[in-house]
Amino acid sequence: MENKMEILINKEDLQKRIKEIAEEIRKDYKDEEVVFCSVLKGAVFFTVDLMKNYEGPCLLDCVRVSSYEGENSTGNVTLKLPLKKENVEGKNIIIVEDIVDTGRTLKYLTEYLKEFNPKSVKTCSLLDKKARRVVEFDADYVGFSIDDLFVIGYGLDYDEKYRNFPYIAYVKND
Ligand code: 5GP
Repeated sequence: MENKMEILINKEDLQKRIKEIAEEIRKDYKDEEVVFCSVLKGAVFFTVDLMKNYEGPCLLDCVRVSSYEGENSTGNVTLKLPLKKENVEGKNIIIVEDIVDTGRTLKYLTEYLKEFNPKSVKTCSLLDKKARRVVEFDADYVGFSIDDLFVIGYGLDYDEKYRNFPYIAYVKND
């Protein structure tokens, strides 16, 4: 990438907030089992750390959608890896996402999952870019609200690169 990057959320702040979210979810569900449904690939790092901090009964599942190319959303959400009905029916699902941008992905996934008769569906996103919303959507659990910046690291990519950064950085457009 030609542009410069700057750290937006450092490793320590990320980990501290993720622990708080895990505790918040645990308080809400108590000893009921939850299924953390990770939205591949971006939410993988967040899901792993969230689950490592979660002290209640839980399962892991994954779903894969695509809507982004480079820095631009294509506007269409396509399901690349669907879920099995038996893994959703009667369960408390928490969709785990890296970032809510236009809101299309989480809105689409919530509606898709509801067709499989889960006991409940909630959403948890590490980051939230409220200013960019196209469809009305609020995640139930949010790590950090951020400005309208293109962010990378901690699972978030730029053309598949930089996911391995342990912090969130943003791309400076100058
Ligand atoms: P939405 O459907 O809410 O517009 O977008 C959700 C998806 O867009 C996220 O899962 C993520 O893959 C991608 N996305 C949105 N904003 C950013 C960003 O700032 N950086 C990166 N790397 N991906 C983003």
